[in-house]
Amino acid sequence: MSTFKSVNPYTQETIAEYAAHTEAEIEQLLAWGHQTFRQTRQIPLQQRCDQMLKLAALLKEQVDEHAAIITREMGKTLKEAKAEVLKCAASAEYYAQHIAGMLQYKPVSSDGRQSYVAYEPKGIVLAIMPWNFPYWQVFRFAIPNILAGNTGLLKHASNVSGCALAIEKLFLEAGFPEGSFQAVLINAKNIEPLIADTRVQGVTLTGSTGAGMSVAALAGKYIKKTVLELGGSDPFIVLKDANIEEAAKIAVKARMQNAGQSCIAAKRWIVEQSVLGDFTDRVSTLLGQMKQGDPFHADTDMGPMARPDLATGLSLQMRKTITQGASLVLGGKQDSANFQPTLLTGVQPRMTAFDEETFGPLAVIISANDEQHAIQLANQTPFGLGSALWTTDLDKARKLATQIESGNVFINAMVRSDARLPFGGVKQSGYGRELSVEGTHEFLNVKTVYIA
Ligand code: NAP
Repeated sequence: MSTFKSVNPYTQETIAEYAAHTEAEIEQLLAWGHQTFRQTRQIPLQQRCDQMLKLAALLKEQVDEHAAIITREMGKTLKEAKAEVLKCAASAEYYAQHIAGMLQYKPVSSDGRQSYVAYEPKGIVLAIMPWNFPYWQVFRFAIPNILAGNTGLLKHASNVSGCALAIEKLFLEAGFPEGSFQAVLINAKNIEPLIADTRVQGVTLTGSTGAGMSVAALAGKYIKKTVLELGGSDPFIVLKDANIEEAAKIAVKARMQNAGQSCIAAKRWIVEQSVLGDFTDRVSTLLGQMKQGDPFHADTDMGPMARPDLATGLSLQMRKTITQGASLVLGGKQDSANFQPTLLTGVQPRMTAFDEETFGPLAVIISANDEQHAIQLANQTPFGLGSALWTTDLDKARKLATQIESGNVFINAMVRSDARLPFGGVKQSGYGRELSVEGTHEFLNVKTVYIA
């Protein structure tokens, strides 16, 4: 029988081992999920909103405990883990307050006596999730879906089973019925029967582009709706009229938070030539001040990466990029899962750190001749998740925002997912949206009702 091992990436100690669910156990999870979906349809929405508010209260009360589970399993600093848990709580409160409006019938005038659009739940949503924000990624899909009447079945990344089970327990403690939200411990290679099961009505995957291709192919085979939130190589464009001091400070945060392991991290800093020197000096100073170490210590800015093999992969990408002509300005050392905050300059298209996603604390600076060249470089990637644009000319910013091929553009700010705004990508970063009205409707039956 296969097992999932959780290993503390900072100490390399084994925290726990979890046995994979058996076929019979998986059948039980599907049966509960389906039965709860059917029963939920008879229950007023307000009851789920009250349970969601209870869940938010529990997350706030137990923030230290949940943050510690996250930090132990995947290595982000405890302060980042606490912020993640509190973000989940705030989002649960937001949707408890706003979901009714998002699910209201939409009247549409036609030649009938009446016609309208209704939004109805469909059943179990299978969520395949990554380890980098092991609570937020899960809550981001679960909160709106469960409020809308779907049920959630989570296949979490195999290094964060403790997080998966802690979240399952929270839903039960908040009063949601068994089957509303369940974690399934299953090897990724055994996912097909779950996707094929008629009780599973949709699949949402947050993860790498490769995983997205594989899951979308299976979902296509069984005609299941998918939402894919995949990798990114977000540009962070700094134009010559930007506030360089602020841009440099936010660039470092946007690249280095979560030890650089964020889909929307600022992975390519594209800077107009005339401010390149100033920007480089400022970010070098800030990166040099970062304290790396035990993620449980209050003064640590950056913990380890989530696994040593991920740090080794990043090291390889860095070394290839240097061989291709980039210069190492700062950092560059790897020890097990620890990877120093690193800065490369002189990065260009066709270098590894430009062409591939780098998922760790590797910052790269790319020089742009002018603003049109900056936009061209920004779009010269197979990805299209987020992007940031720094300029003090907001009319110009709005115009340039229309030229950037990405699911979101943040002007004079770092990209983040926000419960109130739709989130998702274009190109190889995936399709569909999470959050907001657009995300809430993804796994609902958008039903037309027409009365002659
Ligand atoms: P990953 O290897 O793709 O894993 C993500 C999830 O997919 C895990 O649960 C994994 O299970 C599962 N999985 C992998 N291959 C699969 C397959 N063939 N069939 C079914 N399930 C499969 O990604 P990761 O390394 O954990 O996360 C990093 C990636 O996620 C980066 O590319 C990052 O940009 C992306 N990401 C995107 C977003 C977004 O919102 N767009 C957010 C966060 C992360 P196992 O752990 O069991 O392999």
